[in-house]
Amino acid sequence: MATATPEKTEKKTASPTRRPTAGKRTAPRRRPPRRRQSYSRYLPVLIAVLAVVVLLGIVVNLNGGSQMDKLARDRTPYWVDKQIIEINGTGRRGEKLNGVTDIVIHYVGNPGTTAQQNHDFYDQPETTVSSHFVIGLEGEVIQCIPMDEKSSASNDRNGDTLSIEVCHPDATGQFTEASYETLVKLTAWLCDYCDLGRDKVIRHYDITGKACPLYFVENEEAWAQFLSDVQSY
Ligand SMILES: [Zn+2]
Repeated sequence: MATATPEKTEKKTASPTRRPTAGKRTAPRRRPPRRRQSYSRYLPVLIAVLAVVVLLGIVVNLNGGSQMDKLARDRTPYWVDKQIIEINGTGRRGEKLNGVTDIVIHYVGNPGTTAQQNHDFYDQPETTVSSHFVIGLEGEVIQCIPMDEKSSASNDRNGDTLSIEVCHPDATGQFTEASYETLVKLTAWLCDYCDLGRDKVIRHYDITGKACPLYFVENEEAWAQFLSDVQSY
């Protein structure tokens, strides 16, 4: 094995610094006169134009485009807690919606459970149901499924609806005041976001005849009141 010996080619001659001594310069460098005035004059206009462009961009980004564009953008209000569940092949299949024609209201059917518990239930591999949104007993909202995907809540209307499940304290299925207020707010917001009329709201019952949401099936006047509250929100 040959070991390379470092060549000793270093020259001992210290090269003198080539830099000229910078003391001889007397004349200050002359810069061409800058026309600062003319630039700064346009600055407010430039800022205004930029602000308009940015604002337009924000508005178009938030509200513009077709329904499917907006669903794909999946922009929910700040009061929606986005906790999208894993694609598990059952609760969330990852299949795209064909568009939204109705908002479907459900009740969880499991008295006293929280929105978080229902979310976590959907997020299990063996669970075959899910909802886009779950409203909790305190009026909190959790989003579980992206708005451009099918949930597993509304049988043969999964392909063209968004679903809202609502928690309830007891077996009557009646919602708390806080849940109800959020349900009205979320339903109205979804109708507007999807460019639907505020009347495009149905019960699970209207699809399959299932007693869901129980309280709104057994109390038609409460359902009528809810529809009216969504309209006037
Ligand atoms: Zn239902």
